[in-house]
Amino acid sequence: MTIYNEGTREIAEEIEARTRANPDFARKLGDFGFIELEDTWGDETTILNTARVSTSNRRLRSVEDLTEKDRNLLFHLLSKHHGTPFETVYFRFRFIAPIFVLRQWVKHRISTWNEFSMRYRKPISAYYVPDRKARTVEGFEVVSAEQVERYAALMESIFNFYETEYRESCRRIDEASDKGLIPEGKSDPAARNPYRARAREILRSAIPVSAYSDVYWTVNFRSLMNFFDLRTKENAQYEIREYALTAFDLFSKKFPLLSDLYRKAGQTS
Ligand SMILES: Cc1cc2nc3c(=O)[nH]c(=O)nc-3n(C[C@H](O)[C@H](O)[C@H](O)COP(=O)(O)OP(=O)(O)OC[C@H]3O[C@@H](n4cnc5c(N)ncnc54)[C@H](O)[C@@H]3O)c2cc1C
Repeated sequence: MTIYNEGTREIAEEIEARTRANPDFARKLGDFGFIELEDTWGDETTILNTARVSTSNRRLRSVEDLTEKDRNLLFHLLSKHHGTPFETVYFRFRFIAPIFVLRQWVKHRISTWNEFSMRYRKPISAYYVPDRKARTVEGFEVVSAEQVERYAALMESIFNFYETEYRESCRRIDEASDKGLIPEGKSDPAARNPYRARAREILRSAIPVSAYSDVYWTVNFRSLMNFFDLRTKENAQYEIREYALTAFDLFSKKFPLLSDLYRKAGQTS
């Protein structure tokens, strides 16, 4: 896979650096995919203390103080779907995933999204390549290795097209600017140069849904459980399922008790 721009090279380096720096909570998926559980707010005590506001004055200060009774209450709240106490614990994931995966992920509306912009930056010139497992259904390869080669060649030609045409737009803009035919960019400071920004906005229309994008996803635990329920199941598309299973793994490492009770509650509800 060719790296067509500096921004993509930097992201590739960052994936390596984050995976080394945070090995328990950052994982690579395939050629360019990545997910990291960057931050969390609250824990089991937050959920229990919130729930107990309606019944008692007992408050826990730390997870180490949890008794059997507390664990039973947590299990009860989970298995009986007491929703709001679980909305008080938050997770912030960063993931780099193909756009077609993001289109499914963003349907989980009860969460906060911040995504890489192809208006302010060139696209990430990396595209999803399905490995053999992704291409195989019940032992049968539905897309062959030769087909993947043709697909990869097509993706390369699209990123090459973007580079060539963007360079041509920049050349036209610079030439017009040198001749004093267009004023200096000023209308949108965030877009820096509005002419180049507009060229990027138009040319990104050619970028395929297999291209990777970069997202911060902030989500409360209630909504995260819904995501796990729906996207780790067999009927979810393979690629989003891989991300959801990895996200679940990272969550379980951070909150082993909560993860265990959530799993058990799912079996009983
Ligand atoms: C296997 C699978 C196939 C799918 N196929 C398609 C498809 O073909 N096309 C497609 O568009 N989507 C599809 N989806 C997406 C699906 O319809 C949901 O949009 C997605 O799973 C997010 O679920 P959610 O609405 O529960 O999550 P969130 O949007 O995070 O919502 C969480 C919960 O909040 C409540 N809620 C949120 N918004 C509203 C609202 N407006 N009104 C009332 N209650 C609300 C609901 O209780 C909801 O469960 C598919 C999902 C799966 C898992």
